Order: sequence, then structure tokens, then C-alpha cells
Amino acid sequence: MTRLVHTRGDLASALANNSRVLIPTMGALHLGHKSLVESAKAYAANHDGALVVMSIFVNPLQFQDSHDLEVYPRDLVTDSALATEWGVDVIWAPSEADIYGGDAPVSQERLQTLLTGSQTADILEGASRPGHFLGVLTAVSCLFDAVRPQAACFGEKDFQQLVLVRMLASSLVPNVEILAVPTSRDEWGMARSSRLGRLDEGGLSKARVIPTALAAGVEAARDGSNAAGVKAAVLGELDAKPAVRPEYVEVVDDACLPINAVGPARIVLAAQVDGVRIIDNQPIDLKAI
Ligand code: AMP
Repeated sequence: MTRLVHTRGDLASALANNSRVLIPTMGALHLGHKSLVESAKAYAANHDGALVVMSIFVNPLQFQDSHDLEVYPRDLVTDSALATEWGVDVIWAPSEADIYGGDAPVSQERLQTLLTGSQTADILEGASRPGHFLGVLTAVSCLFDAVRPQAACFGEKDFQQLVLVRMLASSLVPNVEILAVPTSRDEWGMARSSRLGRLDEGGLSKARVIPTALAAGVEAARDGSNAAGVKAAVLGELDAKPAVRPEYVEVVDDACLPINAVGPARIVLAAQVDGVRIIDNQPIDLKAI
């Protein structure tokens, strides 16, 4: 049976002494979130039947644009029904006071020091959205503090976020295993995202050049192109469709820093389509410098 709780007290009684695996979300659930639930359930099955806990919290600290925050879809009834259908054990839908009301488990100074030291926090998403990752890590540290999970699932779709959360877990919140979940895509190869719901059919069909462009980059890498060649292949596809405006296209390493070596890498990009910002990425293997 799925339990929906709001306060920290009710969360604590729902969790009791069980071990837990956490899925942090902002709601507006879609099939991408379902793949996180599946990973969490697989983890739980191998870890004494740990409880699968999903948090649903639209974190104001990670929005730079108040309009973006205002229009972010919120529908707890539909989200609860989906999470129940997918087999989540506990849904935690806290208020801002439930999350941020108490003492911060990790100070802003320590989080900022971690971000500054990472070198990655101020590029790509960090450059487009100053303060975004400080907001994300603030929320994640509070969620970890309240839920005390053994493991937590994050999507590769938000690759830079995943890298920074891993850094948070390894240096400031030990004992939480970070489970990376591959990106779930629709039949056109688009990474599933609540933002896609803001596009009409015309916008969606324009946006579908994004997976095509990433596929061109993957193919260029397979054919032996270096990072610059891969980038050029992606931009070549995007430039042919002026309705999609790339904000950045970069080839990065495991730490989400621009790569200048052979080996595993990732193409990351952000683009605007009809006023909606879309991010995506694909893993590649670079054979040439
Ligand atoms: P959000 O609700 O957008 O904050 O996302 C919550 C979690 O779901 C994050 O860890 C995201 O990376 C992950 N996520 C969102 N979309 C997808 C997707 N299409 N595939 C895999 N994970 C996703």
C-alpha cells in the first residue's frame, strides 16, 4: 500500500526502521520518472525489501526565473495515482517549511565551496542558470537529511546535476549510494521531460531534431572524430533547423568538464524551442584527440 505523507513527523512514522531508497522529483510525473522507480525497486529487491520513497517538491531555490517556477506543473492527485500504480511505498510531498524549516544539515558555505571546487558548477547549466546548482544541492542535502536513504536515484538526463550530486554524496553526505538511471526516451528519441508538455505539436516536431543531432554526434565519434568533430556534427544538424536555438553543445568527461582525451565522454546540449528550454545528452567513446 502506498502512503502519502507531508510533514517530517508523518514521514518518520511511515519509514519506521526500514531501510529506504529515495527518488527525488519535482512531480509532473512521466515515464522518465517511472524508470527511476523501476531502478529503485530493483535496488530494494536486493536490499532487504527497502522502502521505495519518492519525494515530490518543486524546489524554489533552483529556479532563477520566477515565471518558470510559477508555471511549473503541480498536480499531486495525478502524481500520487501514478506513483501508486508504479509501486512506490511512500510519497513525501513536503511544504517549503517541512524542507527548509529546521537547521540546514549542510551549510550554504560548504555547499558553495564544493561547487566552486568542482569547476563544473559554473559552466553549461551553471552558466545559463546562476545559482541553480546551489539550489539543487541545498534541496538534495535536506531531502537526504529527512529521509536518510541508503541509496538515491538520479537520471542521467540531468547529467551535470548527477555529477554534482555524486560529489555531494562522496564528500559531504557519506553513506548514500547514488544510482544513475539511463535516460528514458519517447518513440522519436526525445528525452522525456515535463517541459515537453509546454510544446504544441508544431514545437514538438521541431524539437525532434535534438535526438537526430545527438545521433549524428554519436556516429561521428564512432567514425573516429575528435571532440571538435563531434560538436561540429551535432551543430550541423541543429543549424539546419533555425527554429531550434542551441544554447550550448559540449563534449565532456565523467566530471562534466570539457574533454581533451580519448575514452568515455558525453555530448551535452541545451536548446530553446518555442521558448521552452530542453537539455539532453548522449554517451560516446572518443577515439581521437
Ligand atoms: P525532475 O522531476 O524533473 O526534477 O526529475 C526528477 C529526477 O528524474 C531527476 O533525477 C531527473 O534526472 C530524472 N529524470 C527526468 N526525466 C528523465 C528521463 N527522461 N529519463 C531518466 N530520468 C529522468
